[in-house]
Amino acid sequence: MMDNSVVIVGSGLAGYAVARELRKLDSDIPITMLSADHGGFYSKPMLSNALSTGKTPQSILNSDAAHMASQLKISIRAYCRVTAINQSKNTLTLANGEEIFYDQLVLALGADQIRLPLQGNAVAKVLTVNDLDDYESFRDALIGKKRVSIIGAGLIGCEFANDLIATGYQVDVIDIGPQPLGRLLPPAGGVFIQQKLEAAGVVFHLDTATQSIDQIGQHLRLILNNGELIESDIVLSAVGLRPRTQLAERVGIQANRGIVVNRLLQTQFSSIYALGDCAEVEGKVLPFVMPITHAARALAATLAGNPTTVHYPAMPVMVKTPACPTVVSPPDFSINGEWQVVTDKDGVQALYHDDDGNLLGYALLGAATKERSNLTAQLPSVLE
Ligand SMILES: Cc1cc2nc3c(=O)[nH]c(=O)nc-3n(C[C@H](O)[C@H](O)[C@H](O)COP(=O)(O)OP(=O)(O)OC[C@H]3O[C@@H](n4cnc5c(N)ncnc54)[C@H](O)[C@@H]3O)c2cc1C
Repeated sequence: MMDNSVVIVGSGLAGYAVARELRKLDSDIPITMLSADHGGFYSKPMLSNALSTGKTPQSILNSDAAHMASQLKISIRAYCRVTAINQSKNTLTLANGEEIFYDQLVLALGADQIRLPLQGNAVAKVLTVNDLDDYESFRDALIGKKRVSIIGAGLIGCEFANDLIATGYQVDVIDIGPQPLGRLLPPAGGVFIQQKLEAAGVVFHLDTATQSIDQIGQHLRLILNNGELIESDIVLSAVGLRPRTQLAERVGIQANRGIVVNRLLQTQFSSIYALGDCAEVEGKVLPFVMPITHAARALAATLAGNPTTVHYPAMPVMVKTPACPTVVSPPDFSINGEWQVVTDKDGVQALYHDDDGNLLGYALLGAATKERSNLTAQLPSVLE
């Protein structure tokens, strides 16, 4: 049994950010990282622009688990899935039956890609990209192929569409909504980015759902609800994420959309914490890098003995669509307000103000992205 040992489950950006920040604060505290995957460190956002930036799955991997373990002076166990948390004993059960003790436990479990219930004999061929291993499979699948259909025109779907079209693939994007990036952009912004991606060659099929996917000879045939047929070589699904809450829920840890934590990143059990894509911090599930950075700093201080609440400043997200530079700082839509949109041929500036005229969020496209710093300075914090 170790003294004050910290066990981190997950080796994604969240797990590594906590390990790194904690090591800066305490050079001795024993840290063990358990990961269901290879345990190496890489930047997940690079996956959706790797083709056009000339990165391979191998070059995206920054450092393997052994190198990270020696750099951070932590113990890393790769391909080691946690199957149960035994909260009353402060132990974890691994897939091989082994038990691991913790004093403080950090859940950095990430999120699963949602899979739509589709019909057809080729549904199992639908790919998703949510980690480096998925990406390697996707890159292998692309070899010798030309046509890719993407289900979902959200941030990840649009980024992959841009990356694929820029590197010579034919790309169809299907979305049930009337515009791309429907959760992030007002309609004028959606129209603008759609036009830019169309000018680059992307074909959108909006306001319709994918009904079935069948293997027809060498290719795949998608049938859409509006009756259209798309012939494709590869289908990539990017329709959203579901935080991984099951492991926590099985031991009675509260979960809504994500694992429920307070501003200390603490679940209702004082020695169990969560952050990153799996966590819901004061009602907010924010599956992006910047919230992880802020949460990891606060959590590391808490784990090192100095209880520290997380604060989120405004955290704009760059959409990696070079065909249409885009940056968004989504407002809290639960606050009454409306978009004020200025569009010209070079860009769209959409500002979301509340009823008192306070700026709550923005969406900037094309030339309007140059206002980013100025506008970000005017935004309220996401969590004070
Ligand atoms: C293609 C793509 C592009 C993106 N681009 C951007 C961007 O431009 N900007 C931005 O801000 N965000 C972006 N994001 C989101 C961002 O990458 C994520 O928010 C972030 O990487 C999530 O990190 P995480 O550590 O919470 O989860 P993950 O990286 O998913 O890590 C979860 C870890 O938990 C492990 N695990 C899960 N269950 C278990 C278990 N039972 N036992 C042991 N280990 C387990 C997994 O193996 C994994 O190591 C992008 C995401 C994708 C998919």
